Amino acid sequence: MLGFFDTKIDFLKGVGPQKAQLINKELNIFTYGELLQHYPFRYEDRTKFYKINQLDSDLDHVQVMGRLVKLESIGEGRRKRLVGYFRDETGEMELTWFKGIQWVVKKLVVGAAYIAFGKPSLYGRKYSIPHPEMEPLTTVKEERNLFQPVYPTTEKLKNRYLDSKGISKVMEGLLAASLPQIQETLPTDILLQFNLISKKQAIKEIHFPSDQELLTKARFRLKFEEFFFVQLRLLKLKLTRTEKSRGQVLADTSLLTQFYQDHIPFALTGAQIRVIKEAYMDMKSGKQMNRLIQGDVGSGKTMVAFICALIAIGSGAQTCLMAPTEILANQHFEGLKAFGDMMGLKTALLTGSTKKSQRKIIHEMLLSGELHILIGTHALLEDIVQFKNLGLAIVDEQHRFGVAQRAKLWAKNKDFIPHVLVMTATPIPRTLAMTLYGDLDISVIDELPAGRKPIQTVHRYDSNRLKVFGFIKKEIELGRQVYIVYPLIEENEKLDLKSLMDGYESICRAFPQYPISILHGAMKPADKDFEMQRFVKGETKIMVATTVIEVGVNVPNASVMIIENAERFGLSQLHQLRGRVGRGAEQSYCILMSKYELSKDSRIRLDTMVRTNDGFEIADVDLKLRGPGDLMGTQQSGVADLLIADLSKDAPILTIARDAAQNLLAEDPDLVHPKNALVLRQIKNQKKHQINWSRIS
Ligand code: ADP
Ligand code: MG
Repeated sequence: MLGFFDTKIDFLKGVGPQKAQLINKELNIFTYGELLQHYPFRYEDRTKFYKINQLDSDLDHVQVMGRLVKLESIGEGRRKRLVGYFRDETGEMELTWFKGIQWVVKKLVVGAAYIAFGKPSLYGRKYSIPHPEMEPLTTVKEERNLFQPVYPTTEKLKNRYLDSKGISKVMEGLLAASLPQIQETLPTDILLQFNLISKKQAIKEIHFPSDQELLTKARFRLKFEEFFFVQLRLLKLKLTRTEKSRGQVLADTSLLTQFYQDHIPFALTGAQIRVIKEAYMDMKSGKQMNRLIQGDVGSGKTMVAFICALIAIGSGAQTCLMAPTEILANQHFEGLKAFGDMMGLKTALLTGSTKKSQRKIIHEMLLSGELHILIGTHALLEDIVQFKNLGLAIVDEQHRFGVAQRAKLWAKNKDFIPHVLVMTATPIPRTLAMTLYGDLDISVIDELPAGRKPIQTVHRYDSNRLKVFGFIKKEIELGRQVYIVYPLIEENEKLDLKSLMDGYESICRAFPQYPISILHGAMKPADKDFEMQRFVKGETKIMVATTVIEVGVNVPNASVMIIENAERFGLSQLHQLRGRVGRGAEQSYCILMSKYELSKDSRIRLDTMVRTNDGFEIADVDLKLRGPGDLMGTQQSGVADLLIADLSKDAPILTIARDAAQNLLAEDPDLVHPKNALVLRQIKNQKKHQINWSRIS
């Protein structure tokens, strides 16, 4: 059923079909409802006045009260301009016009008092506002809108008189028509509990605030609402799933016990044990598990995954582990096959480069149930890969996988959806995790294996390269290995390769005595693997690479990570790369190389890396610098739907909105109580517009 808010904007006053088309295209806005949610991104505060001696070119738009003492035409022809000398008790400034001079001269009265509004900049010794808005002081009325909304717009819209002012005019009309139609979406008890203003008032105030206090309340109300419904949907999804998705009961721990007693090479950390228990509770519960394991680099996620696999296999099911790159799949295979062999289990590797004949054998052994653990890349997802009984699907470093790909895993088993464990080393700030994975259970491995020394990180300028080379030599002579990583700038693969090759050659010249490996994306998988193996075995001392080594690679003897052009990397990438060292007992180092001049953000990134090893702290800084949209595939998760709330700033509001949603569902899981009718209706309304919420994450 279409309602008032679904009305097309084509015949809205001040719009019309042609402009409507442009708005559709430029702003992706089609209906009244959507336009009403085109919120201002800031407000011009017309309550504050500046004195001329308080002006500063860093200020945005300001308004100044003063007297126009003189008007003067300066220059000739195209360079002609009109200058108004404007004075208050603190000094004098200039107002300049380059266009419409005749009209301005006619309108302004020399000697009269005005409010001039615009952006000040310093010319010579005086401040000047080009093309100010001029308002005679006498006309300032009570109803003058003190906060003027500034709307997002585009050049094309501006050309059709839809600048911020134009949009504001349209909005005024739309708002007047809409106000009687706007209905409350939140139950009264929640409004009261959190002291929220009504939806109607919030919409009015967000566009045309009466004062600062109401603007603040309007923002709070709308942000709360946005988070509340996102959380409610996610929590409801989770509720439905835990109720409905039956899961295979995988409860046999005999294999696990055997491994634990006879083979495990180290004592598990407390955090590893806790997370294994959490997964075990899920797997034996009869409900299907969907669990995200978050653990900083080096926290030992692989062992947790293997032990969960032992529970599944011990209970008669098979396990697969999917990794984002071939190198990583190889490495998991090498590591886990060794453990599997000790336990008499059959393990196989399936990637894009697996030979056809080998594939056939794997497919057969999967179907017969002979193969216990299948490790691979997205090759695992191909339809031809079928299991006898896939009980547990593990996805490593999940942010590299698309949602659709993951969903394919669900289809791999006939009677039961497999239990799913998603492991990520990208520490996600709590707020983001709640929003992205609100429907997943989350386990956190928040402890590193004992005896690890924190990695020492320093920042060095390129001019100090010789000293850094000296340090490399010293470490290699102590028996350690070194990574040197070059950035990848995806627009130009050839250039990337060239800078890597140049780097490689200069390293070879600097260290003719050491065997050196090189690894980059353009190499054939087999060659990559060969080079990687040489480095793993210690045959080569230095690994020159692009970011292909970013995730997962594990060479405990490598103790130095040098990152070239570190200013070009994002924070989470730097943290991932650093995580490649510090995996053994030796003291490890990370050296961030950069040029001397750095942008403000680059400097913050490098300083953050030097200051802390804590992935969560780093993720928080990253979120603040980049905003949530960039952090990962947030597009698919609905985070991009947030219109007014901001994950990097509004975490406290998210937390209370989530609690409110949780309480409401605890009281009324099916939303059948009359007082929650509004909520139910809102959820149904949203469903119409909803983009696809994935089932796994
Ligand atoms: P990540 O969480 O980054 O995937 P890995 O699983 O690769 O970490 O583990 C990093 C290193 O730590 C590996 O060499 C692994 O064998 C080792 N490790 C894992 N758990 C422990 C532990 N409890 N005690 C000692 N070493 C461990
Ligand atoms: Mg790993």
